[in-house]
Amino acid sequence: MPSTKGFKITYATLAAPAEEVHLAFETAANELQGALGQTHPIWIGGEPSLSEEVFEDRSPTDRRLVVGRFQRASASQAEAAIGAAHRAFGEWSRVPWQERLAILRTAAENISSHRFELAALMSLEVGKSRFEALADAEEAADLLRYYCQQMEDAAGFDRPMGQLAPNEKTRDILRPYGVWVVISPFNFPVALAAGMAAGALVAGNTVVLKPASEAPASAFKLYEIMVEAGLPAGVLNYLSGSGSEVGRTLVQDSRVSGLVFTGSKEVGMEIFRRFNHDRPRPCYLELGGKNPAIVTAKADLEKAAEGVARSAFGFGGQKCSACSRVYVDRSVATAFKELLRERAVALAIGDPLRRESFLGPVINEAAVRKFERCVAEARRDGEILFGGDVLGGEEYEHGFFVTPAAVTGLPEDHWLVRQELFLPFLYLGEVDSLERAIEFSNRSEYGLTAGIFSEDLQEVETFFDSIESGVTYANRRSGATTGAWPGVNPFCGWKSSGSTGKGVCGPYYVSQFLREQSRTLME
Ligand code: NDP
Repeated sequence: MPSTKGFKITYATLAAPAEEVHLAFETAANELQGALGQTHPIWIGGEPSLSEEVFEDRSPTDRRLVVGRFQRASASQAEAAIGAAHRAFGEWSRVPWQERLAILRTAAENISSHRFELAALMSLEVGKSRFEALADAEEAADLLRYYCQQMEDAAGFDRPMGQLAPNEKTRDILRPYGVWVVISPFNFPVALAAGMAAGALVAGNTVVLKPASEAPASAFKLYEIMVEAGLPAGVLNYLSGSGSEVGRTLVQDSRVSGLVFTGSKEVGMEIFRRFNHDRPRPCYLELGGKNPAIVTAKADLEKAAEGVARSAFGFGGQKCSACSRVYVDRSVATAFKELLRERAVALAIGDPLRRESFLGPVINEAAVRKFERCVAEARRDGEILFGGDVLGGEEYEHGFFVTPAAVTGLPEDHWLVRQELFLPFLYLGEVDSLERAIEFSNRSEYGLTAGIFSEDLQEVETFFDSIESGVTYANRRSGATTGAWPGVNPFCGWKSSGSTGKGVCGPYYVSQFLREQSRTLME
């Protein structure tokens, strides 16, 4: 493998990576071809386990490619995984936090050293471009490092408190809860599974990880890499299977102390209600978005077009942070639309394993059908500015490829303007003022990310102060609304986008996996 030491790709990387990075990715992708189609177990208490049913994980780039065969875990296997995590909790929670951190920091190093393998696997499994996939793997490693650092900076969350009497001493300690269920989505199959699991593990909890059925292979590889770092048996358990089947058991089991979920609002809310039906338990939801970007009359339009195109169409709009609405000042709308169109039609669409591809396939057949419906309704009720085709022909016929679309002329209450679509589909609205743009931006049940393009700092300040989103950016060419990084851009969903009020990637994340105990001793 060529040397790539010291090189790091993030979602905000704009420069072309060095040749060695391409070669390392291509070497990993070639090696992966030889390992496709294998059958993988689930892991319970450090032991492999097989189910009665197996499902195939196929690539969205080419449905003929079977990435792997995975177990459809049964309810009794889910119960067994919870049991294993429950048994492992006592010992793991008593491991001094410094030792836990040493293991998890080794896991972070292992993820970094396997980043090309993980990235190639994600490209194949969910259709990420190589840069997006490398950033996903890098983010996973940095999430682990950042969460370890949080524990260290807080000295294990153990601090002296005040006194009411001279002979009284009180300490305040944050202690782990027990077993956490981690349910992850398909779109950041390594970073999000790693990040949520790491938050729980760093704090001394044990974990049952249930990844999305569209991405069991990436999470499986992650599991192997993390366990190799020295996690004791049962501390991390891996369950592939259907969310609506095995997920139900995980959510209902009373031995589970907490649940952390990233995914759609619909599924998240259903889990939330069921999880707390008979007693309160922490249940953290990171949900969808309908993220706006604002382009004012004082914007650098080149920068704005680049930032919006990257955020709206990168990874086919399949990011919770994807830009899906843009409000442009009417005076610059024509020029902006033209710049955006130029960029969008120039995007290279194709097999994401190939170096020139910016945009791979959307995740599945259902996503293509939904895209067709969105385009048809936009054509009927508004105007298509560009894109909106489903691609066929030699290179595309076995996968799910579409051309990124932008539409305009829809009423603000149209479902295409309100609902999260999770597709390369951008709505563009024209406005007469920044105030109107902010008003429309905030007229959404979601509040995840938002961006503005304006060279006027007063306008930028007005935006920061009035926008109802947890993650905000101004003048970001590398992504109008996307590209958050651990320790740099805390990622907190407001309104229907999340329940925590303290985001992933932010300084308060780990403490949410701990509960407080004050210890008062009279001497
Ligand atoms: P889904 O909500 O469809 O699925 C998420 C996870 O929930 C999967 O593992 C799924 O399993 C599981 N699941 C489904 N039904 C149940 C159930 N009844 N009980 C328990 N678990 C269940 O989301 P996607 O995977 O399609 O991911 C896209 C969504 O994730 C978008 O809405 C996006 O905005 C959001 N997201 C939010 C982020 C944030 O930080 N706010 C970041 C990334 C994504 P299975 O696949 O087997 O059905």
